[in-house]
Amino acid sequence: MIFLKTEDEIEKLRNANLLVGRTLAELAKAIKPGVTTKQLDKIADEFIRDNGAIPTFKGFPNPYGPEFPASICTSVNEQVVHGIPSDNPLKDGDIVSIDCGTLLDGYNGDSCYTFMVGEVSEEVKELLRVTKESLYIGIEAACAGKRIGDIGFAVQQHCESHGYGVVREFVGHGIGKEMHEEPLVPNYGRRGNGTMIKNGLCLAIEPMITMGTHQVYLLADKWTVITRDRKPAAHFEHTIAIHHGKPEILSSFEEIEKLGV
Ligand code: MG
Ligand code: MG
Repeated sequence: MIFLKTEDEIEKLRNANLLVGRTLAELAKAIKPGVTTKQLDKIADEFIRDNGAIPTFKGFPNPYGPEFPASICTSVNEQVVHGIPSDNPLKDGDIVSIDCGTLLDGYNGDSCYTFMVGEVSEEVKELLRVTKESLYIGIEAACAGKRIGDIGFAVQQHCESHGYGVVREFVGHGIGKEMHEEPLVPNYGRRGNGTMIKNGLCLAIEPMITMGTHQVYLLADKWTVITRDRKPAAHFEHTIAIHHGKPEILSSFEEIEKLGV
């Protein structure tokens, strides 16, 4: 069942998503070699609650294992998604994808940004640049009258043309009162295929892109997903609404990018 949102609901989604953007910017200020992802989790948890919202990821159910123990996902280097914050300090040259979700006034925010820790190799910088670019190219394809497959096609085309892998097992999604609603939004696909995009449709678009193979596997903790070849992966995510026929980005990287990261 796909729920198209009213203007009022879109505003609530925007508020939840702007809070995610501000949370990610708070984390950006703290990211440096030596900081642990558990320390980042604590900052995020407090910031979200201080702003009257609930960190949606905390206690998120898992059909295969324990519920998610933290308020953000922190995926370092070859970790693709759903990395669990740990006591391991980040090192110079690492990358860390921080995925964050908030529930504010009954609506969900969901956005992710991959950060550099200290000085990162040119090769990895390029992976981040192309992945972020593919997010915006995917968003541009999300116009009323197009189909979900057009989004995935655009993302896949861009990333594969740079020789990168597009993760298949994890995808974007509809978003609203629930963090994960229909439809699924794969980062691969065929033009003109899938659900029709309409005004009021709200989506989380989130390319998960790898430097090598697109194949991934799940670690024994039943959450952390890593690349099979252990090459790095990047993940950028925005929540959008189709509004007046066009995609409007509800989350924001503005506060992060102001910091020059
Ligand atoms: Mg997310
Ligand atoms: Mg998401």
